[in-house]
Amino acid sequence: MAEPRSWIVIGAGPAGLLSARRLASAGHRVTVLEAEDHIGGRVSRVRVDGLDMDAGAESFATRGGYVERLVEELGLTGRLVAPAGGPAWIVGPERSYPMPSAGWLGIPTRSLAPDVVRALGVRGAMRAAVEPWLPRERVAPDAMLGVVARRRLGDRAVDRLMAPVARGIFSRPVDELRVDAAAGGLAAEISERGLIRAAGHRRSIAPAGSAVLGLDGGIAVLTDALAADARAKGVRIVTHAPVTSLTREDEGWRVWTAGERYLVDEVVVASSRPAAAALVPQVERAPDKQVALVTLSLDAPELDRHPRGSGVLAVDGVTRAKALTHATAKWQWVAREAPSRHMVRLSYSLETAEDLAPFALADASRLLGVQLRDSQVRDLVQVVWHDASPTRAGDREPVRGIHLVGAAAGFSGLAAIVDDDQRSSLGQ
Ligand SMILES: Cc1cc2nc3c(=O)[nH]c(=O)nc-3n(C[C@H](O)[C@H](O)[C@H](O)COP(=O)(O)OP(=O)(O)OC[C@H]3O[C@@H](n4cnc5c(N)ncnc54)[C@H](O)[C@@H]3O)c2cc1C
Repeated sequence: MAEPRSWIVIGAGPAGLLSARRLASAGHRVTVLEAEDHIGGRVSRVRVDGLDMDAGAESFATRGGYVERLVEELGLTGRLVAPAGGPAWIVGPERSYPMPSAGWLGIPTRSLAPDVVRALGVRGAMRAAVEPWLPRERVAPDAMLGVVARRRLGDRAVDRLMAPVARGIFSRPVDELRVDAAAGGLAAEISERGLIRAAGHRRSIAPAGSAVLGLDGGIAVLTDALAADARAKGVRIVTHAPVTSLTREDEGWRVWTAGERYLVDEVVVASSRPAAAALVPQVERAPDKQVALVTLSLDAPELDRHPRGSGVLAVDGVTRAKALTHATAKWQWVAREAPSRHMVRLSYSLETAEDLAPFALADASRLLGVQLRDSQVRDLVQVVWHDASPTRAGDREPVRGIHLVGAAAGFSGLAAIVDDDQRSSLGQ
């Protein structure tokens, strides 16, 4: 075991809490400083119409089983829940259609299947279907996925299927999404097999069953349990404590908040990347993509039949919102906790701070295919998240004694963050 040292962890999101727990287990003295008045970061709650809903993340990818193992370790296996099945819908300017059942990242892997023909029309489906017979081309990792796919599948497949998925998942236009940012190793695979076969292969290696799971009561149950476990291991968590600067001293690092200063041996930065770059000049700055979530509570019996299943992706330009989740249809626990009303969550990409309330009801009506009126809105809450699409940091320890984890290091999603923590040698 390493000699015990003193550590500050900046940020009490999932990555900060995981690091704090790991360090405390290795015998170190750990304090977590969190800027907000609550823990959890993007895995926390927001109160909407009297119900605690997930404020940011609402599920986790089952890929690799990393999060499930952590859930088990924390004694939460009994609370695992699967979302409602059924495809997402896509709403385009002229038609709405369910996402084809065989596909990956919107790339149709059975291009002449009836659900693909419904989405693309006969001409569009036939254009996509010839892709496996086109000559192979060498695709560079920094090529743009949309540009490659337009050449190989045609514009319809890109505009009607891939673009809404890229906007929904990666918060960026498919024509500006690097192939290697969509999935590691994808460029080599497309070069070797072509796009449709590469997508088919990726789909075949995805785990069977639901690709995501949630927790009864919301995914924030996980960060609550992580914080409780960290405290039980001796970690001190201080909220309302935004770190304003870090300075190097002979004996270690001085960490400044408005009210306190701490002197410690080492620091873990588990904030967003822009916050990390503001504290540590050696951390590369990256574009700050913002996402706003607007949750509506609606008195709308016309939604009882779940007209668009549990979720909808919008083709660019159809609505200001890029996607909608019908939370009451998706999560049984939300339906149980919010009887006789519907919880609907819209997500928006933002350039600057903006009040989206004036758009939300019209967007929900358009995406759900049901005309909703102002009088049906019981509550509306908007939350804005910065750094929604982090990019990888070159160096995890940009200065000696300062360690980057989670979003600050460019990891996105609970599965990636938990996997990284499980491989971590922090504090050893
Ligand atoms: C809208 C949205 C939806 C998402 N949905 C999912 C999903 O369904 N499934 C999934 O797996 N992932 C999802 N993600 C991604 C996931 O939430 C993040 O990858 C994850 O929360 C990052 O964890 P983190 O601990 O690195 O950062 P965060 O969760 O952002 O936590 C960082 C913490 O640092 C604090 N902080 C920042 N600056 C300072 C400072 N100067 N001093 C002290 N504290 C500071 C912040 O207040 C915050 O609490 C979603 C993200 C967004 C934005």
